[in-house]
Amino acid sequence: MIFDDSLAAQIRMCAACPKMCRHVCPTFFAWRSDAPTPHGRALLIHQEITGTREIDERGIEILYQCLECSHCLTFCKPEIDIATIVELRRKAIVSEGRRPEGLNDMAVAIRKHHNPYSEPHELRNDWLDLKKSGGKNLLYFTGCTAAYREKEIASDTVELLETLGHQVSISSEEWCCGSPLIRTGDEEFGIELAKHNVEVLNASDAEEIIVTCPGCYRVLTRDYPDYDLKLNKPVKHISQVLEEQIGNLPIDKFEGSITFHDSCHLGRHCDIYDEPRKVIEKVSGAPLVEMERTRDNAMCCGNGAGLRTLFPEKAKKIGAERVRQAKNTGANILVTSCPFCKNMLKSQSGEDLTVLDLPEIVLMAKRGRKANID
Ligand code: SF4
Ligand code: SF4
Repeated sequence: MIFDDSLAAQIRMCAACPKMCRHVCPTFFAWRSDAPTPHGRALLIHQEITGTREIDERGIEILYQCLECSHCLTFCKPEIDIATIVELRRKAIVSEGRRPEGLNDMAVAIRKHHNPYSEPHELRNDWLDLKKSGGKNLLYFTGCTAAYREKEIASDTVELLETLGHQVSISSEEWCCGSPLIRTGDEEFGIELAKHNVEVLNASDAEEIIVTCPGCYRVLTRDYPDYDLKLNKPVKHISQVLEEQIGNLPIDKFEGSITFHDSCHLGRHCDIYDEPRKVIEKVSGAPLVEMERTRDNAMCCGNGAGLRTLFPEKAKKIGAERVRQAKNTGANILVTSCPFCKNMLKSQSGEDLTVLDLPEIVLMAKRGRKANID
């Protein structure tokens, strides 16, 4: 049985709810249909539990149209966790051998190259330029997106940590953290990657593990322990490290104003909201201009849980809407603290909005903004 009685009761309640949460669901925004909504997914599974409908091809499609952004959970009074319910059902779909075709290529790429982008493993750290030895030894777990698609986040993170007096180490044996597989239902392969990474990370003599990707942060701090895989050193997101050393951060005056996008994995999933804001306000010397939808009410960028791989146009539609919300503030800089969000938001931002990740804006303050943006 996939769902126990308690979960089945929650699914039944959701299937009968007035379903106003659909107005915060980004996939309702993208499709404008009642099927890809929290209620639509619960109704589908409720019908399966009661034996009135099987999960057919359309059902699978609806389950994979969810971003697992957990926005519905913040809205839902009885706190029904649709993202987790969807993920549980996805797991069974993968075990049944019915994973959507579009995700098979990602799994094959990770099997072959240890990253979902089909990039050679030996080029994973080709951006790396270590300059410093001595200081607190921090192991930077880069994550696939910063390593291959947003390399300036990775190189800026290393430079920044060295500037703050740390010694940075990177493992040539780092593999994908497993998040893209676990979130899309391939738990078995995800655990395989997790076991490898735990072995590699535990063998390092570094004092702490630092991540810039909230997807990595969530799996390393929540999913790995759930699988009884224990890391022998603390894991910190870069926003936490920078906030701890806020007195040592550079300050520069930025022209215009800055707004901030909360990544779902960092915010709603791991409750980190204040740290990146404090860092940005410190280095820019000015308050952020907040978007109307912010913190636990922030709209997802559209890039989560396999949606961009399977439905790229809908994912981009959601990303473009988030960029529109950022532009509505009048800000000319949009900062996020997630390589995956940055990648999506930058693709939709146009010329009048500069999209940066947290380490980038801090280093920009150090170097002097004009040298880098202009
Ligand atoms: S997720 Fe909560 S608010 Fe939304 S339809 Fe289900 S029960 Fe209702
Ligand atoms: S987790 Fe996000 S995309 Fe999925 S049903 Fe909830 S609000 Fe919609």
